[in-house]
Amino acid sequence: MTPANKVVLVLSDGLRYDVAVQNMGFLGHLIESRLASLYQVTGELPTMSRPMYETVHTGLPVMAHGIYSNQVVRRSNQSNIFQATVDAGKTTAAAAYWWFSELYNRAPYDPINDREVDDPSLLIQHGRFYMQDDFPDIELFSSAGLLVRRFQPDYLLVHPMGMDHLGETYGADSYEYRKNAIRQDVLLANLIPEWMALGYNILVTGDHGISSDRMHGGTTPDMRMVPLFFIQPGITCEGDTGKTISHLQLAPTVCKLLDVPIPETMAAPTII
Ligand SMILES: [Zn+2]
Repeated sequence: MTPANKVVLVLSDGLRYDVAVQNMGFLGHLIESRLASLYQVTGELPTMSRPMYETVHTGLPVMAHGIYSNQVVRRSNQSNIFQATVDAGKTTAAAAYWWFSELYNRAPYDPINDREVDDPSLLIQHGRFYMQDDFPDIELFSSAGLLVRRFQPDYLLVHPMGMDHLGETYGADSYEYRKNAIRQDVLLANLIPEWMALGYNILVTGDHGISSDRMHGGTTPDMRMVPLFFIQPGITCEGDTGKTISHLQLAPTVCKLLDVPIPETMAAPTII
């Protein structure tokens, strides 16, 4: 088994570093077995969702891409992973919150027309979008599993909202938030071996963390530090690297894994 030039990016909304490492035991097993590498990621600022969706997909800080806050509702006007993948003649897919449809497909979002799309002219060609923050993670991960089995996309974004929703409801120092990290780990355990067998490189990370008093947006490590679990099938990985990387390195790394040209604007070094 060698890795294919295919990538699944699991962007778990609101998944902070320490809670992920302490509670996601299947991913921890992959780290111990050197089937994955673990990095700490210093998130860009502000630790807000829509700005970080764009940062993760463009490799640009907020002042460069212009999605300054959650209230900036428009399509991305920067080179991004979806565009680079489609331009290379490859296939894209996402099971994600509706703001991703606005950033890369159409804005404003039409709750009916834009909810499910299978259209090669779009940047997210196979999209399954949801609008409610309490949309169950199990439904989201099932949609992601379906997209792989049905379309074998070259790039798949998987974007569950459970950590963010429970963190904003109960705080990050709560049974509910920690328990959901375990739930997401179990859901991933039921998908990752299948995706590895297909040759997918798999990255599990977050857009931002969350504080014990139910907030994000600020600069403290609880809101800022997120994990990167990086799985490359058929390759002996590094386990816990002890390294800290930047959010800005994710986009060029994904493009390199996809074997598509890395846009000039994705100037941060790749991690491979
Ligand atoms: Zn978020």
